[in-house]
Amino acid sequence: MSEHNSEHQEKNRAAIEKELYINKYTVDEHESHLRIKDMEVCANCVEKPCTYICPAAVYVWEHGKLTVQYSGCLECGSCRFACAADNIDWNYPRGGFGVALKMG
Ligand code: SF4
Repeated sequence: MSEHNSEHQEKNRAAIEKELYINKYTVDEHESHLRIKDMEVCANCVEKPCTYICPAAVYVWEHGKLTVQYSGCLECGSCRFACAADNIDWNYPRGGFGVALKMG
């Protein structure tokens, strides 16, 4: 990746984070609406598209493990289609929980 592209991506990421900051999240502390069906499938997944398709960076692959920070989910549904192995059990959050999108 060129230096220009990297700089451009950093600027885009900063702009996205600024937009995400104004949303309101009501987090369900007891139940995640995103569940990985089989972590072994993730371990064997070469491209791990969930880690770069998600605009909210919910999926993080670190130290050989996938974490799902569902509290920041925008409910866009991109990850459920990006996972070629259909390894994400995707549901909307329970009633009263989830994101309330705000326009900046
Ligand atoms: Fe990220 Fe969208 Fe999936 Fe939520 S639904 S985890 S925002 S890709």
